Amino acid sequence: MAQPPPDVEGDDCLPAYRHLFCPDLLRDKVAFITGGGSGIGFRIAEIFMRHGCHTVIASRSLPRVLTVIRPLQPPKVPGLQAARKLAGATGRRCLPLSMDVRAPPAVMAAVDQALKEFGRIDILINCAAGNFLCPAGALSFNAFKTVMDIDTSGTFNVSRVLYEKFFRDHGGVIVNITATLGNRGQALQVHAGSAKAAVDAMTRHLAVEWGPQNIRVNSLAPGPISGTEGLRRLGGPQASLSTKVTASPLQRLGNKTEIAHSVLYLASPLASYVTGAVLVADGGAWLTFPNGVKGLADFASFSAKL
Ligand code: NAP
Repeated sequence: MAQPPPDVEGDDCLPAYRHLFCPDLLRDKVAFITGGGSGIGFRIAEIFMRHGCHTVIASRSLPRVLTVIRPLQPPKVPGLQAARKLAGATGRRCLPLSMDVRAPPAVMAAVDQALKEFGRIDILINCAAGNFLCPAGALSFNAFKTVMDIDTSGTFNVSRVLYEKFFRDHGGVIVNITATLGNRGQALQVHAGSAKAAVDAMTRHLAVEWGPQNIRVNSLAPGPISGTEGLRRLGGPQASLSTKVTASPLQRLGNKTEIAHSVLYLASPLASYVTGAVLVADGGAWLTFPNGVKGLADFASFSAKL
């Protein structure tokens, strides 16, 4: 059985990397990655850049993504410098942009800026999302709407803008980062499960409508991934998480590099005949994970303490 590739916990580049795919796989392509300043999105940006791609990383917090557009320029802002780390480790260009996926005018301005900088965009990765644990009965209307707005409407907004501004006339590839929450109806996750299930449906609709323009659209659904905000927020107590994980088919958490490799496959010419698909990369976890109903009781006592 293949060993997982090495990874690091934080939002840092890998100290060493061994190519499994051809290093030129995405040579001189440009990828626009929402949520590319942290977690899984950051590692997707790094792995794409290690395969020759330039990237645009876009999220709300400019300090998270901001630093320099080209490698080896001095940073404009100290601190959270995802783009500088990425460019420094890979020698490829990384353009950091501040943008809320919920605001179409901001998305349009960001895509215009990216096209001005690079002259093209070949790949869109919709990775921005928000999530937290909450029982459906305690979830505010606004909280449900917020998650739908970021995950589902945000994915549509960015896809729609890129379609109009570039993909319709040049073709392109879209990979939507979703989840398996809605496959079985996970407790405490009605908001995110509904939002991600809607994105998987959107993947199929857009694959059908945009296929004739040579646009491929697929979803990648990760399982529990170490070193991510998602796992920190949703993983629950360490002991119960490791019980669930060791009972799953591959008996371990996934890591960010493994997810990035699956996304790289979908975004690359290796998947040239793949569209409208949902690739689950979770070590088989959704087949065996408990549905979380026990967690409802834990959550009630936990919230009572707040
Ligand atoms: P993360 O680091 O929190 O990534 C989420 C990113 O989305 C952040 O960079 C955030 O940056 C950005 N974002 C949030 N709201 C936004 C908005 N309104 N507009 C623009 N950007 C926004 O979490 P992660 O765990 O790596 O998750 C990445 C993706 O994988 C998500 O789609 C998640 O649902 C999916 N996933 C993760 C796991 C896991 O185990 N971690 C499992 C299944 C699926 P700003 O705060 O700066 O905006």
